Amino acid sequence: MQKSDSQKIKVLLLTGQSNQWHNWKVSSQALQAAVGGDGMFEVDTLVSPAAGGDFSGFAPAWSDYDVVLLDYEGDRWPEECRAAFVRYMEEGGGLVSFHASDNAFPDWPEFNEMIGVGGWGGRDESSGPKVRWRKGSMVLDPGPGEAMHPEPFEYLVETRSPEHPVMQGLPEAWLHAIDEQYSQLRGPAQNLTVLATAIAGPEIDKGTGENEPMLMAIEYGKGRIFHTTLGHVGADDTETPPAMKCVGFLETLFRGLEWAATGAVTRPVPADFPGTDFPSVR
Ligand SMILES: [Zn+2]
Repeated sequence: MQKSDSQKIKVLLLTGQSNQWHNWKVSSQALQAAVGGDGMFEVDTLVSPAAGGDFSGFAPAWSDYDVVLLDYEGDRWPEECRAAFVRYMEEGGGLVSFHASDNAFPDWPEFNEMIGVGGWGGRDESSGPKVRWRKGSMVLDPGPGEAMHPEPFEYLVETRSPEHPVMQGLPEAWLHAIDEQYSQLRGPAQNLTVLATAIAGPEIDKGTGENEPMLMAIEYGKGRIFHTTLGHVGADDTETPPAMKCVGFLETLFRGLEWAATGAVTRPVPADFPGTDFPSVR
């Protein structure tokens, strides 16, 4: 699928801050290497000012890109920057929200509409419902409960929208390499399609026993958003962890980027895509 540079999908990888639990330097390097090395994408990495830094000149050229890959949780962007990003998305831009980026901007309504659901940052019942998958369909649950996750473990990711371009041809279930499993994310959850879920049974500490959304697709204006909750990199991690080397994580990320950028997915399922018996890492 090697393309000439002019045909490649232009990706803006936006990073530069993470919360105390994550290491954006490791995760963004892994994203840059994986996405940039795939052949389908051309990646520019933009590192924001550090926490508390001067954002007055922070004005990414959104419309130069087919899709924005967000690996950022930190300071609020300036008003003009946020407004320009909302405009970019309304007019047909693409966004991929990676792991803890859905912790970002709890008080920015448009961002929360884009990501569908998010966690932490004070998100509670007032932020919107939890997204559940029960008896074969999505259920919005307004009941109490705030974001959490069990200790990282290997878990099955189950396809819930096999006809969606991102999921077409992927197995019904695959074993994800050891990772956090976000649960009880909450938000507006409008125009949201649950692509894949995972479950932590009540026998696991902090397991909800619910099918929690792991991969989601959201439409915002004319824009498309792929939301992957996978890919935890701990604050003390110095190397790319298995969660980000997992072929299931990587291929769904690539497909999500292509879909968010173009509305279609042309990628074949790679031969090393995991099955249900053991994880597959690159
Ligand atoms: Zn994490």
